[in-house]
Amino acid sequence: MSSSSNGRTASGGNGRRPDRLRDYSAWRLFRQGLSNDEWPRAWHHHDLRSSYDVVIIGGGVHGLATAYYLAANHGIRNVAVLDKAYIGSGGSGRNTAILRSNYLTPEGVRFYDRSVTLYEHLAADLNFNVMFSQRGHLTLAHNDSSLRTMRWRAEVNKVQKVDSEVIGPDKVSELVPYLDTSAQTRYPILGALYHPPGGIIRHDAVVWGYARAADAHGVHIHQKTEVLGIDVDGGRVSGVRTNRGSISAPIVVNCTAGWSTLISDMAGVDMPVQTFPLQAAVTEPVKPFLDTVVVSGTLHVYCSQTDRGELVFGASVDPFASYSIRGSLEFTEGVAGHVLELMPALSKMRLLRQWAGLCDMTPDYSPIMGPTPVEGFYVDVGWGTYGFKAGPVSGEAMAENIATGRVPEIIAPFGLDRFADGRLVGEKGAAAVGH
Ligand SMILES: Cc1cc2nc3c(=O)[nH]c(=O)nc-3n(C[C@H](O)[C@H](O)[C@H](O)COP(=O)(O)OP(=O)(O)OC[C@H]3O[C@@H](n4cnc5c(N)ncnc54)[C@H](O)[C@@H]3O)c2cc1C
Repeated sequence: MSSSSNGRTASGGNGRRPDRLRDYSAWRLFRQGLSNDEWPRAWHHHDLRSSYDVVIIGGGVHGLATAYYLAANHGIRNVAVLDKAYIGSGGSGRNTAILRSNYLTPEGVRFYDRSVTLYEHLAADLNFNVMFSQRGHLTLAHNDSSLRTMRWRAEVNKVQKVDSEVIGPDKVSELVPYLDTSAQTRYPILGALYHPPGGIIRHDAVVWGYARAADAHGVHIHQKTEVLGIDVDGGRVSGVRTNRGSISAPIVVNCTAGWSTLISDMAGVDMPVQTFPLQAAVTEPVKPFLDTVVVSGTLHVYCSQTDRGELVFGASVDPFASYSIRGSLEFTEGVAGHVLELMPALSKMRLLRQWAGLCDMTPDYSPIMGPTPVEGFYVDVGWGTYGFKAGPVSGEAMAENIATGRVPEIIAPFGLDRFADGRLVGEKGAAAVGH
């Protein structure tokens, strides 16, 4: 069933699953294990056509989900997803995979909650294990003003029927015994916003699941295909130029996150976006001890433990706008120091690796979605540090927008025109560190 409302219903495409999507059954796994046959390719190589009905630039979760819902929900299958590198090579394969919907504004809460609902059913929809673990999400308050914002968020969340409440230090300590909840720390923990449905997911699996499902519905995925220019005639988009040739298309969608302004510039569309690197790091694996996501805005740090036992650490974006995705010692030292302020018992843990990705930040920390002044040119960008969780709802809503020509209500507040009209959707209080 397809729905753009905020009802707690899953999408599941149009209910008809292409044969190739049924491939991963328990029986198939067993039979394959006993045979020497190779698994069939999850998505296929196709020649680049000279024209498509829809060209989507960017093979991250947003581009792939949009392609999947176009095909599954609306029967629009003559679709190409172009990526200059490989699918998931951008933020979709670099994020820390935190999903939640406890935002600050009613528009934001409604939107992200629909995504969590879609994620809850995604493994079944795509027949692919995406390992969504709803283990709970804690945002710590270290001062009165944080507590006030959290109470505000909890009230907005409750009105939208999102499970979210402010809890005291005792309950925090019960949930995460390793946190230093004593009063002697530099920033004592005064309470927290607790959001039980939040959690983590396997980001690669989400990307691969959408790619496999879109491919099975007939979508063409073209990797190593870089868009170098966008053709616009008389205010209307007519196609793209790539390193592999030109493609004509009446509809072009920009799903390129950290590169979004470069692509929109090609169509002559200005966007209020600045690009910043965001870094993360992971430790060696240890036995499970942390089954909640912990975020501290004051200390600019968050932490979760993967199913493999590694601790994943993240922070806010780097302080300077840049397209560099190099890790820095400054980040590692900062993140390690702040994690130890929260959990001193981790002092002997060793960091395994660190990495970075690009984030396209908007002035109000909310995305930009929908049509642009260039007819046929759509954007699904401005995903900052929080866009992975929005992949399903964005894909569903963008597909509906493209297929029907109408902007679905759930994304209407996030149009590009809001910056000219001054209708900002201020999410900074809920989106700066807690991705
Ligand atoms: C370290 C880190 C941690 C994060 N943690 C979280 C988190 O916990 N939760 C959360 O919700 N979000 C998180 N995010 C943000 C999230 O990763 C992004 O918002 C999201 O992945 C964006 O997805 P996307 O599909 O829009 O873009 P991307 O996944 O970035 O995909 C864009 C694609 O466009 C392609 N591209 C660019 N230019 C061109 C071109 N000219 N031609 C063709 N292709 C092109 C790129 O190769 C890339 O694959 C994090 C980000 C980072 C970097």
